[in-house]
Amino acid sequence: MPTHSAIVALRNSLTGSLLLPADAAYETARQPWNLAIEQRPDAVAVPADVDDLRALLHAARESGARLAVQPSGHGASGALTGTVLVRMGAFDDLELDLDRGVAKVGSGVRWGAVVDALEGTGWAAPAGTSPVVSVAGYALGGGHSWFSRTAGLGSDGLRAAWVLRTDGTHERVDDDIDADLLWALRGAGGVVGIVTALEIDLVRTPEIWGANLTFDVDDAPAVLRAVRDLAVDAPSSLNLFVNSMRMPDAPQLPEEIRGRSFVTVQALSTEGPQERQIDAVRRAGEVRRDITGPTSPAALAAASNEPTDPTPGRGASMALSILDDATIDALLEFRELPEQWPIMGIDIRMLGGALDAPRRAGFASLESVGWLVHALVPVIPGVPDEPGEASLVAFRELLAPNEASQTVPTFLEPDQTLERCGSADGIARLRGLRARFDPEGLLHDGRLPR
Ligand SMILES: Cc1cc2nc3c(=O)[nH]c(=O)nc-3n(C[C@H](O)[C@H](O)[C@H](O)COP(=O)(O)OP(=O)(O)OC[C@H]3O[C@@H](n4cnc5c(N)ncnc54)[C@H](O)[C@@H]3O)c2cc1C
Repeated sequence: MPTHSAIVALRNSLTGSLLLPADAAYETARQPWNLAIEQRPDAVAVPADVDDLRALLHAARESGARLAVQPSGHGASGALTGTVLVRMGAFDDLELDLDRGVAKVGSGVRWGAVVDALEGTGWAAPAGTSPVVSVAGYALGGGHSWFSRTAGLGSDGLRAAWVLRTDGTHERVDDDIDADLLWALRGAGGVVGIVTALEIDLVRTPEIWGANLTFDVDDAPAVLRAVRDLAVDAPSSLNLFVNSMRMPDAPQLPEEIRGRSFVTVQALSTEGPQERQIDAVRRAGEVRRDITGPTSPAALAAASNEPTDPTPGRGASMALSILDDATIDALLEFRELPEQWPIMGIDIRMLGGALDAPRRAGFASLESVGWLVHALVPVIPGVPDEPGEASLVAFRELLAPNEASQTVPTFLEPDQTLERCGSADGIARLRGLRARFDPEGLLHDGRLPR
């Protein structure tokens, strides 16, 4: 179908740029960061300023197309037919107010830039594990970070946002100005407006200390129980992730790790050493590698080994209410089954702490949820989807009995909707707000199908 003339006309009216399917550069520009998602929007726009965004709203109104704001596409989830994909790279301002512990961040800024700017200041960015995820995509989708037990979700730290409403008005909005809009932006961003910048809380980190303990898989049952027990009274300044890696039996790998499984416990404290708590985990097995001491957010980001270039990825995520002995044993047994080799990594994040006492009202919440679990199946070009998909299905089935009533939007899988992240009342409120803030349906459905 030929592209609507109102969209084609944007080529001449935008200060920024517009690519159409016939343009050579479109093929690369249309792709999301997660290359496993196939999306073919009607056009890709890179607005230079708010006037360009207004022109895009006007073209959407004229053409019947919708606007899908996607700063990078780690969270891409759909085909985007009938939409104009909007890239926010030009909105790249970053202002730090270290007296107040607040940052104003343009919606094209990626976390890595904020992490680097804060290094050595005593403040940390509430960033996720990937430095190339945008602050906007993360904070407007909830966002769980290394610091979430200390400071809550990324969306909880959203103080204010500069929003272009679909009627063309652009203003700074906080809870005093429009509490409904802020509530929706805290987790369901994208369905109610276009955010050009965010004002976020930074995390005070008097003394960052970390522990990284690696155990053999034989010790995993005791180690996971020790971590689980620690959750009962760990202070909110202590954040804890567990990672279970099963290395392929590939000749390229060093002999000491080839075909073997490991469990690593990573702890991060914002208030200096917490040896007593970590000792309880250390004593649960024979520590193969023990790295403990002062660390920094930049060191954590570097050690996370997250890919920074666009990569195809797939996995299964689930929020769990409890991690009981039976679940730990079943998960570990499942993990070692020969046919489950496609699952390379399983991450388990301890929740609680500040997540149980949100500071601000928002759609996204992990209040009273115990654990976030994610299984990773690498996508290797040319290798069939199976048996990887079957492993992910089995993983979900295994954990389903303990699934919590809600998860955080940034941990949704591509085909999952916001219905998994809120109560029926919350979803009804969100639908009502979308009808109020976007009555003409100019914004893409996102994860809330109309
Ligand atoms: C390798 C990797 C590691 C990750 N680690 C974590 C982690 O540790 N913690 C975590 O919580 N998540 C994590 N995620 C998930 C990631 O945070 C989400 O997918 C996030 O939404 C992606 O950000 P993005 O910049 O790619 O946003 P996109 O995928 O480009 O956009 C996400 C959505 O945000 C909304 N949005 C974005 N910008 C705007 C705007 N300016 N105005 C209105 N709406 C907007 C839109 O609805 C859009 O669809 C990870 C993902 C990957 C691939």
